Amino acid sequence: MSDLASLDLRVTECRACPRLVAWREEVARVKRAAFADQTYWGRPVPGFGPADAPLAIVGLAPAAHGANRTGRMFTGDRSGDVLYAALHAVGLASQPTSTHAGDGLELYGVRITAPVRCAPPANKPTPAERDNCRPWLAEELSLLPVRAIVVLGAFGWQALLPVLAAAGWSVPTPRPRFGHGVEVTLEGRHQPDRPLHLLGCYHVSQQNTFTGKLTPAMVETVLSRAKELAGLGS
Ligand code: SF4
Repeated sequence: MSDLASLDLRVTECRACPRLVAWREEVARVKRAAFADQTYWGRPVPGFGPADAPLAIVGLAPAAHGANRTGRMFTGDRSGDVLYAALHAVGLASQPTSTHAGDGLELYGVRITAPVRCAPPANKPTPAERDNCRPWLAEELSLLPVRAIVVLGAFGWQALLPVLAAAGWSVPTPRPRFGHGVEVTLEGRHQPDRPLHLLGCYHVSQQNTFTGKLTPAMVETVLSRAKELAGLGS
């Protein structure tokens, strides 16, 4: 088993945050009426995408009835509908939809992951839960040949910067601020010739996409730029 596959397996067994363990399992037991006949995943969600991905997309945490139900990042919810349609449009996904873990979807050169792996109540992990989860993402990023990361939303941005510092990149002080379309380049402490490009993108949540704050074209523009910076062509 590869190091990344082993990491994915280990993360699904984590029970380090009592509040999140209780919540993810309760949601999986009670379910939403529309999914009453389904077996929820109800565990931490590993990253999704190939082990040699030079591009990563980092959200915040699994959705209670999305990834916490299907076991795959951004799969089975409205946020994922927007994200995967955009990934397909720019040539990074084999299909525009992501409905369940066995739907045949493949990602090309991109891995989707998160700084918090368990669905939190009200989509809000506590600072302690975020810190508990940090080593998982730090290890994942240190195993990937990552050259660019698209960060979805300000919370993900704030959570990711300490992860990047832990994984060996130099994060400037004061910390760079999140914004849609913002680009920041970090130097590797151990590999100065391997910079990491960070790109900000508003989160693909319904709050942003239903109000028009974030359009499909805006997501595609950021993804296209990230693809180019990651060396995946334009
Ligand atoms: Fe473990 Fe992270 Fe889930 Fe906490 S949020 S239980 S650290 S996987």
